[in-house]
Amino acid sequence: MQKLQPITDFTEISPSAKITTESHGWRAKCLQRLVRLDMPVPRTVALSAQTVQDIAAGRSLDCEGVLACFGAAPLVSVRPSPAEPDWGGPSTVLNIGMNAARHAELVKTQGQAAADSLYLRFVQGYAVHVARLDPDMFEIAEPSAEALRDALRAYRDEMDEDFPEDPARQLAEVLRSMARAWGGTSARLLRQSKGAPEDAALGLVVQEMAQGIGQGISGSGVIQFIDPVTGLEQVTGRFLGQSQGTEIKDRVKDAIYLTRDPRGPSLEDLAPEIFESLARQGSACRTKLREEMQIEFTIDDSKLAVIDAVRVPRSSRAGLRIAVDLAKDGIITREEALLRVEPRALSELLHPQVDPRGPRDVVGRGIAASPGAATGRIVFSSAAAQASASRGEPCILVRRETAPEDIRGMHSAAGVLTERGGMTSHAAVIGRGLGLPCIVGASDLSFDAKDLKVTTKSGRVFKEGDIITVDGTTGEVLAGAAEMLPPALDDAFRTLLSWADDVRDIGIRANADTPADAQTARNFEAQGIGLCRTEHMFFEEARLVAMREMIFADTPEDRATALARLLPMQRADFVQLFEIMQGLPVCIRLFDPPLHEFLPHSREGMRELAEALDKPLSEVMRRAEALAEFNPMLGMRGVRLGIVLPEIYDMQAQAIFEAVIEVARRGGSIVPEIMIPLVSAKREVELVKMRMDAVAAKVRAAKGMDFAFKLGVMVETPRAALRAGDIAQHASFLSFGTNDLTQMTYGLSRDDAGRFMNTYVQQGVYPEDPFHMLDVDGVGELLLIGAERGRQMREKLTLSICGEHGGNPESIAFCRKAGFDYVSCSPYRVPLARLAAAHLALLDRLDESVDETML
Ligand code: PEP
Ligand code: MG
Repeated sequence: MQKLQPITDFTEISPSAKITTESHGWRAKCLQRLVRLDMPVPRTVALSAQTVQDIAAGRSLDCEGVLACFGAAPLVSVRPSPAEPDWGGPSTVLNIGMNAARHAELVKTQGQAAADSLYLRFVQGYAVHVARLDPDMFEIAEPSAEALRDALRAYRDEMDEDFPEDPARQLAEVLRSMARAWGGTSARLLRQSKGAPEDAALGLVVQEMAQGIGQGISGSGVIQFIDPVTGLEQVTGRFLGQSQGTEIKDRVKDAIYLTRDPRGPSLEDLAPEIFESLARQGSACRTKLREEMQIEFTIDDSKLAVIDAVRVPRSSRAGLRIAVDLAKDGIITREEALLRVEPRALSELLHPQVDPRGPRDVVGRGIAASPGAATGRIVFSSAAAQASASRGEPCILVRRETAPEDIRGMHSAAGVLTERGGMTSHAAVIGRGLGLPCIVGASDLSFDAKDLKVTTKSGRVFKEGDIITVDGTTGEVLAGAAEMLPPALDDAFRTLLSWADDVRDIGIRANADTPADAQTARNFEAQGIGLCRTEHMFFEEARLVAMREMIFADTPEDRATALARLLPMQRADFVQLFEIMQGLPVCIRLFDPPLHEFLPHSREGMRELAEALDKPLSEVMRRAEALAEFNPMLGMRGVRLGIVLPEIYDMQAQAIFEAVIEVARRGGSIVPEIMIPLVSAKREVELVKMRMDAVAAKVRAAKGMDFAFKLGVMVETPRAALRAGDIAQHASFLSFGTNDLTQMTYGLSRDDAGRFMNTYVQQGVYPEDPFHMLDVDGVGELLLIGAERGRQMREKLTLSICGEHGGNPESIAFCRKAGFDYVSCSPYRVPLARLAAAHLALLDRLDESVDETML
C-alpha cells in the first residue's frame, strides 16, 4: 500500500499571504492584520481548518517543513484559531522544541535558571495537554534543575518512554492532540452554547516563541486602553517579569502596573520606551483595526513582541461607549456604530439600581448574574409569574434553578433568584439576555418548593407573595422594597440613540398610565404616549370609593353624582400627563375593564364596602353577584360599557377636554387622541363619536375656548380588523391592541395560557408564546388586512401597534414593513425600539446598495 504523503498545506503569515477568517480562523487573520500594521509580531505559520481536520483524521503534517520556516532550532507555540474568538479551543502549548540539546545551549546564552524554567514549562505543558497526564504530578512550585529532572522522570515513569527529544515529533504530537480535542464532546457543547455551528472548524497558528524568560527586562503582559466596564479611556492590564503565556492571570498579585501608579511599580517607570511603543501599537490597532483591542505582549531582554490581540471583552455599557467614541473620532461611521450595538443589550443599561444610601436589609447572598435591581412579590413557579404579570404586579421568580421551560416565567418576572447555578447557568444566561436582574447560586437561602417558602440562614421565612428586592449588581437579596436609583443614562447612550433617531423611519411612542411612566417615557425620548390605560387611575384608595359608588348607583343621576366626584381627579391626571409630555401626542384609551374588577372579592372586603357605602351587606353582595360574568374578558367591557353606561366616557371626555383648556391657558398646547377600546362594529364608533362631539361642544361653550381632538379605535377583535374599512370612516387612527387581538384570534385566554403554553411550545404546536412574539402568520395577517382596508377608506389614517409586542424588534420590523406610523411599547423598551428601528432602516439601505451594485 502506498503511504500517504505528509500534508504541506501551511502558510507563513505575511502581509500578502492568502489568509481568511473562514479558511484559517480569526486569530490567524488578526495576526496578519497586526503584521500589516508593521507590529513586532514573531514569525507565525497558519494551518488552515482543512489541514487541522486532516490531522485529526490521522494524516501527518510536514512538521520539519513548518519548523524550517523559523530558522535553526526554534522554540514555537501553538494556539487555536477558530472562526470566532468566543468559541474557545484547546489550550495553547508553549516552548515546543525544547530538548536536552536546546537546554544546554540556553544555559550558555540565558543562564541555568532561564533554561531550566523554559524546559520545565514545556515538559509540564506537554505532559498535561498532550500526554494528558495528571496535572498535579507536574505542578511547578519553583523552577530548578531538580524540578526539571523530577518532571522528566515522572513523564518517563507514566509513559514508559523518554520525553520526546525530536522537535518535529513534539510539534506533530501537539498538533494532533489539539486537532482531536476540538472534536471532543465537551468542547463541542461548550462552543455550541456560545453560538458556534455544529460543523465549526478549527485553524491553528504556530508562532516563534517570544520567551519572556531570560536576560534583562523580560516578561509578559496584557494591555488595553479602555475600562472594560465603563468603556472610558483608561490603560488597564499588568506586566509580570520572567513569565510567559497565561501565567500572569494566575499571578496577578506579583505583576506590576502598566502606567505610573502610586500603589506600586509600573512598566512605564521600568521601561518608558517600551511602554511608549505599546501605547503606539494600541492606538494603531484602534485606528486601523477600528476596534479597541487587548494586546498580549512579551518582552525579551527589552525587546517588545506583540504576540496576539483580541477585541477587548466588554460590558454592554462599555460596548456602547466604544462604538460612539470610535464614530466621534471618525474611525467608524455613525451607521456602523449603530449597527455594532445590539438593541437588546440596551435593556441592561436601563435598570434601576438599589440606592447605596438607603437602608439594606440583606437576607441572603448569591452570584450577581445579571445587573440591575428589581422589587416584587415572591412567586415560585413560572405559571404564577405569568399570572402576576397579567395582573400588572411585579414579581420575583424564585426557583431552585431554572430550565428552558421557565423562559416564559422569566419574561414575566421583574427579577429572578435561584438557589443553584453559576454565571453560565440557565437563569444567569437568560437573565442577562433579557436584561433581567438576576441572582443565582444563593445557597445560603433554603428553598422549600413544596411549602412555598424561603428560609434564610438566620431563620427568617419568606412566603409566596412577600416582597423582596434582588440586587443583580451586588448579588444581595433584600427584604422588602429597597430604595432605588433611576438608571444612569450617560452621554454616550443619548448620543447613540440620537443617531438612531436620525436614521429610523418609524415612530416610537410609549405606553404610559401614570405620571411616573410618562416621565420615564420622556427620559427615554419617546415621541409621545401611544397608550394611556385610564382604568389604572381609579385604583387609588380615594378614587376606588368614588368608583364603587358609581358602580352601585341605581339611577343615571346617582351615577352622574359619583362621576362628578371623579371628574376633577381625572382632569388633574390629564393635566399632569400633558404637562410632562410638553405638546407631544398623548393617546388616551377610554375605560376598558369589566366593572366588577373594581369590587372587593372577599367577604371582608364586601363588609367594608357596605359600611363605606352605608348599604346593607346583602345588597352589596347581590350587586356584586349581578355584575359577575361567566367570561368577563368577552363580556361587558371596553366600548360595550361605554355604550351601556355612557356617563363614564362622558366624564372622561370632559376631563380630557378641560385638561386641554387648562394646559392651553398655562401656555401649553395639546391635541389629545381619544381611543375607543374593544370595538367590533362601526356603529359603536358612531355612538361614541356622537357623545364625544357633544361633550366637546359643551366644554367649548362653557369655557369659551376652542380646541381640537382626534378620535380613534383600538383594533383588538378580529372583526374590527376585518371591518377596518368601515370603522376608519369615523376614526382618524387605528391602534392594534395585539394582546387582546392575540387572545381573540387564538381563542386563548391571556390570563390562563401559562398553564399549557410550555407544553404547546415544547411540542411545537406554537413556535413561540404568541403573547410574547407576534404571531405573524395569523394575528399578523389581521394586522395587514386591517391596515390595508383602513387605509383604503382613509389614506391618511394613522396606524400603530400598542400591545406588548410593540417593543420587540421582530414586531417593529413587521409593522414597519406594513407601513405603520409608529409602535408603542413599555417605557423601558423605548431605547431598544429606537435602536432596533434604526437597524432596520440601515439594513434596508445596505440591501439597496447591494442591489444597486449588482445591477
Ligand atoms: C391590548 O389588548 O393589546 C392592549 C394594549 O390593551 P390591554 O393590554 O390593556 O388589554
Ligand atoms: Mg386590550
